[in-house]
Amino acid sequence: MKKSIILFIIFLFLIFIIFPRIGLYAFLFDRGNYGYIDESHTEIITDLDELSPKTRELALEFLEKCKENGLSVRITETYRTQARQDMLYEQGRTTPGSIVTWTKNSKHIKRHAFDICKDNTDDPYGDLEFFRKCAEIGKEVGLTPGYYFDGYQDMPHYELSRWWLP
Ligand SMILES: [Zn+2]
Repeated sequence: MKKSIILFIIFLFLIFIIFPRIGLYAFLFDRGNYGYIDESHTEIITDLDELSPKTRELALEFLEKCKENGLSVRITETYRTQARQDMLYEQGRTTPGSIVTWTKNSKHIKRHAFDICKDNTDDPYGDLEFFRKCAEIGKEVGLTPGYYFDGYQDMPHYELSRWWLP
């Protein structure tokens, strides 16, 4: 009896903690056919087709709902190569400019994140109310908006929630 309870707890731990953490579900159920991209490429990629299928699906739903609510959203970046992430990481540290990222291990590299700004304006990042409304919609469709990040806010950023299960 006791043994089966322990096994059951281990089972739950694997299903809900370990497997999501190592990306097993994404690996099994969220795989796409992506175009060939030179991995030393450091240019911005804005193509939604370069996101994982689930991320892309939620991004499209998000864009649709934003449109319905009169928010004109522009996608500024989707998939990011490790080379580009490393380049961004060095910015403000060993290369000129201000710091733009805190990690070398972004969800963009895993095709699980995209960034937005306000479209058709001279000030694409100045309208805080715009980002607040977009974040609400992002949360509603099941994304994790960087708007709500603890510690530092990343208003333009949206990512697939870690706990997503198929
Ligand atoms: Zn981002």
